[in-house]
Amino acid sequence: MKTTKEKAVLYPGSFDPLTLGHLDLIRRAARIFDKVYVGVLVNPHKKSLFSVEERVIIIRNITKDIPRVEVVSFGGLLVDFCRQLGISHILRGLRDSADFEAEIKVAQGLTVLEPGLDTVFLGTDLRYAYLSSSMVREVASGGGDVSAFVPEGIAPLVAEKYGNSPKAEQ
Ligand code: ADP
Repeated sequence: MKTTKEKAVLYPGSFDPLTLGHLDLIRRAARIFDKVYVGVLVNPHKKSLFSVEERVIIIRNITKDIPRVEVVSFGGLLVDFCRQLGISHILRGLRDSADFEAEIKVAQGLTVLEPGLDTVFLGTDLRYAYLSSSMVREVASGGGDVSAFVPEGIAPLVAEKYGNSPKAEQ
């Protein structure tokens, strides 16, 4: 059982696929919180490149050396999931004002549903300000190499999904 003192944060997202921007946020959150849950959202209405199970395995593999990080999947109400795991904070990343506009409303709605569940925002590292999973998918769907955008090992998996010849990585 967790003590009430442990500060646990949930970083929810699609992570389809995980990018260097996501990984940077996870690393930084792990320096702030006692426990970081990376939560892959189960959304049956959204067509995805990687299955939820694949994404969980990929993110676990990439984050295995970062202390206090746990990768989970979840569906249903986020506030219920947080209550179950004793999570007191939600983490979201901000790349630009469009992210802010969307995220602040979600954060406000969450506190209405669950007072005390605070959303914390981390601004993107400038190196990744332009980066999104959808951009990665778009480049890969056109046959492009995405290794500059994703953590090592993910680019060949993305290429394979699009039937691109996988690039050897060493
Ligand atoms: P969602 O579908 O929930 O937006 P994403 O996987 O696209 O899921 O993103 C999850 C979170 O990560 C969001 O808060 C998003 O703003 C943030 N994020 C995505 N890309 C970056 C990036 N390059 N830098 C910082 N934060 C990012």
